[in-house]
Amino acid sequence: MPRTYSGIRESRPNTFNDLGGQAAQLADDFEQNCIKNADRTFSQGLQCQQINSISAVISLEESVFIIHSPQGCSGCVSMGADGYRVGQAHRGVHFIKSPRVIITNLDQNDIIMGGEAKLREAIALAEERYSPKMIFIFTSCASGIIGDDVDAITATVQPEVKSRLVPIHCDGFKSKICASGFDAAFIAIQKYLLPQEPQPREKGLVNLFAPTSISYKDQLEIERMLGLLGAKVNYIPFYSSFEKIQKITSAEASTSICKVFADEFMKELDETYGIPFAHTVMPIGVRNTDKWFLGIAELIGKGDLAREYIQKEHDRVLPQLEGIKKRLAGKRVFICGGTGRSFAAAALIDDFGMELVGLETPTYDIDAQIDIEYLNGIHKNYVVDVANMQPFEQVNLVNKLKPDLFIGVPSWSGRFGIPTTHVLDPKRATMGYDGILYLGNKIADQVENPGFNRKLAPYARLPYKKSWYEDDAFKFIKEV
Ligand code: SF4
Repeated sequence: MPRTYSGIRESRPNTFNDLGGQAAQLADDFEQNCIKNADRTFSQGLQCQQINSISAVISLEESVFIIHSPQGCSGCVSMGADGYRVGQAHRGVHFIKSPRVIITNLDQNDIIMGGEAKLREAIALAEERYSPKMIFIFTSCASGIIGDDVDAITATVQPEVKSRLVPIHCDGFKSKICASGFDAAFIAIQKYLLPQEPQPREKGLVNLFAPTSISYKDQLEIERMLGLLGAKVNYIPFYSSFEKIQKITSAEASTSICKVFADEFMKELDETYGIPFAHTVMPIGVRNTDKWFLGIAELIGKGDLAREYIQKEHDRVLPQLEGIKKRLAGKRVFICGGTGRSFAAAALIDDFGMELVGLETPTYDIDAQIDIEYLNGIHKNYVVDVANMQPFEQVNLVNKLKPDLFIGVPSWSGRFGIPTTHVLDPKRATMGYDGILYLGNKIADQVENPGFNRKLAPYARLPYKKSWYEDDAFKFIKEV
């Protein structure tokens, strides 16, 4: 029987998002099926899945984006819009556009009377003003709670407009795992945009799924590497178009640059359209770049070619890593990031002889288990915090572990005076073999120049009491 995926990551078996402890113990518990469902009895703000749905499609050409919500939900859109504008500049676009975003601005009256009229008005406005090929409609907590039937509304409006209407069900409250927002976007793409009839296969065409956070430099490098295997890349959905989306089902294979982005969609393409996929890791660091490249190469029957290329790149790059190792070996690191980047960074620091002392990542599942088992073979004693944000836990752990470097969003841990940096760089080259050299030098420069954080620390105190730093970081995680 074909599986039906709800788009809610918690619904997948053995997926946990409220968890913490020593990595070796977690891996053991997962292996033995001993991890119990839990919840945080105290929790700070989570990243909402709606912004992931929006950012997944915000750079699509000839599109309008209707956010069916109160004004506040659209707060993070400025981040996606900035990424889109910078991405255009990097791609040589001279007349840089902002994404066309309309917010229905649900208010108190709509919460009582329903938001249908405002949604109809927004669709009519989008059509009249922009005549786009696609209109994406994002639901929100408010539209979900009042029960606006967005599918039914769009179905009745669709015959009256030329644009393709694509409702995306990304109400924030539905999932505590923000990557569910990617799934919601792909479920809608499949339902409303893919051709329903089987399409002829296009020889050598490979779907390459990539989130907004990938820089243009990284896009070019990954496309170049796939080109070495004779593949023609359909880069989706970032800086993509209706026509390229239509091509998805003509591909011979799929892969993704991120571990969580499109993993469920690629499964769906495999089951429904018979398009096989390589689901491995993010190509950051030596081990991950090898693994990612070999994964897709084997799938399209070019394993030998890939191994030859990998050997050449190792001969070129590994000697250059020696200089970086001299600067970084033995330095202790705490890493916080999304699932793909956090595990990629944890593998990367091994290239520089650094030691992992803490890892914060949003979800623990079978994919995380594979990575943790690999990392446990290198790093002996580190703590894992499975959390979507939760800065109070992060600062507790960082204060206790006192790493030499923090990799991730520095807003909180940066105030301890330790150097901070990140591997999420939507503006520079971080992937493939040259990316390793760039990141290695960047990390070393930061470790050797901690002045900014040291000077910031006395003036940017964190809001927690001293007693919290002595407490158990995971005391609010309770089994349910
Ligand atoms: S959809 Fe819900 S969780 Fe997301 S920003 Fe709006 S109110 Fe917050």
